[in-house]
Amino acid sequence: MVLIESGYTSFDADIHKLNEIDDPTGRYTRALDGRFRGLGGSSSRWGGRMIPISAYELGPRPDIAQPAWPIDTEMLDDYEREIEAIFQIDNSPYDNSGSARVDPNGLFPRDEKHITRRWAKCPDYRNCNVATLLAKQLKDLKNLDIWLGATVCDFSLDSDRGRLRGIAAQNLNGNTLSIVADDFILAAGAIESTRLLHLLDAKSEGRAFAGCHALGRYFQDHLKAKVATINRRNAHLTNRLFAYRFVNSTRRDLHLELSEHAQRQDASASAFAYIAMDLASSPLADLRQFLRGLQKRDVSSRQVLQLLGNGGFFARAAYWRYAKGQVFIPEDIDLGLMVCAEQLPVAANRIRLSDKDDRFGMRKARIEWTPTYAEEHTFRTTIRHLDFYWRNSGFDRFCPLKLTPAAENAAIPIIDDAEACAHPSGSTRMGLNPPDSVVGPDLRCHAVPNIAVASSSVFPTAGSANPTFTIMKMALWLADSYLGGKVTPKAVLEPTA
Ligand SMILES: Cc1cc2nc3c(=O)[nH]c(=O)nc-3n(C[C@H](O)[C@H](O)[C@H](O)COP(=O)(O)OP(=O)(O)OC[C@H]3O[C@@H](n4cnc5c(N)ncnc54)[C@H](O)[C@@H]3O)c2cc1C
Repeated sequence: MVLIESGYTSFDADIHKLNEIDDPTGRYTRALDGRFRGLGGSSSRWGGRMIPISAYELGPRPDIAQPAWPIDTEMLDDYEREIEAIFQIDNSPYDNSGSARVDPNGLFPRDEKHITRRWAKCPDYRNCNVATLLAKQLKDLKNLDIWLGATVCDFSLDSDRGRLRGIAAQNLNGNTLSIVADDFILAAGAIESTRLLHLLDAKSEGRAFAGCHALGRYFQDHLKAKVATINRRNAHLTNRLFAYRFVNSTRRDLHLELSEHAQRQDASASAFAYIAMDLASSPLADLRQFLRGLQKRDVSSRQVLQLLGNGGFFARAAYWRYAKGQVFIPEDIDLGLMVCAEQLPVAANRIRLSDKDDRFGMRKARIEWTPTYAEEHTFRTTIRHLDFYWRNSGFDRFCPLKLTPAAENAAIPIIDDAEACAHPSGSTRMGLNPPDSVVGPDLRCHAVPNIAVASSSVFPTAGSANPTFTIMKMALWLADSYLGGKVTPKAVLEPTA
């Protein structure tokens, strides 16, 4: 196995520039702050929220004209425990059946028809970055070469057999690495995996993917918008309700999801609400900065000193953490109610090649992407049900919602200010029919079968769940498919320059 990684073990500004895109409408804002090059990829920055995409979202959804994913999705469930073990997180349920652990005092209503409660799991910040988490295994695995600073930028094709023969990668000094192999896996993130297939197609003068209408199309991201501020009239109880909690040392984050019933009833796509803290200049911001530094492997002594200067805050935080199993949110911190909505696949939302080049002479990705009425409808449906949920549960007595002007007034489109969540997907979609999809259920390209894609770009629809848990399940399944059966993953070798 040879792993070719564009970045290094830490951030490099010149390499990061390779993520620049051509964005004619200026609408897709997450190309540069939504993905990061380097060993471990964007896991050096991600929030670590893991939650399975729901069975309902993976099945057929005739009310919104979306077919089921064309795979036996139960096989993905088999990887759940394995991934939780890798990230050293607790294995209790994500859904309401685990309520006794995450809501021991029964603060949330049990039977709400339109809002479903689930709890994402987050690894410890030190374990979020997979390059750090798997460092030992990377050292120990003998049959893997890792090339860092090597950006794949060219392809050698076996046109007679319709296969990829080899790839070439370059570093910033102009050195070239050529690899010939039997099989290739693109795991370059949704945008770059799509761009690489486009570049391969261009190299073949459009012959490789001539019969495929889907390459680059149906590009999606989740859309997020703040829909309300939560007035912490009773700060203590609000903290009890909405602050992160810990179950067996695993942080759990509340997802208030639009239920299956509500989605059907309102012919809506999927969405969930979560609580965001406006940390501003709070000591919690210093703490988060410090923990993020651990994740990025970049902590300064100034950060440590800043933390030590906040003794009073830490005493209260320690009390909440260990006596109540929750994060302490200082009273002056505002809480925002955020909605994250699924974007439905639309052919016009697409990635193609720009006529502008990057420093390696590769054509940049051009992203044509606009939110649509379907997302506006999903936002409106979710806000209506959340508003009812707040009143019905009695939350409005001690932490009422103050809706934003757009959430309150249907004449102001929420999608105009909603931003992408850095969860790109869909542009090399999986399907059974080669003209309408890029990869088959085995994740191999219909057009070039010795290339597989391990990325959210294969998602035919995205649901509203954060994508990485699903990406990892599919990647493990793919790895097992090459190995001819289920194996315990032993991940992988010392980085070499
Ligand atoms: C701030 C932030 C918070 C997030 N929070 C969450 C969260 O809480 N939960 C969640 O599920 N998701 C979250 N995400 C999204 C998550 O990070 C991505 O879904 C995930 O990292 C995608 O994994 P990937 O391996 O497909 O792509 P990446 O992690 O982007 O990795 C792709 C790798 O491919 C390399 N590469 C690209 N092009 C080339 C090339 N030409 N040659 C060689 N190498 C190349 C890149 O350098 C990179 O290392 C977040 C993202 C961000 C930015």
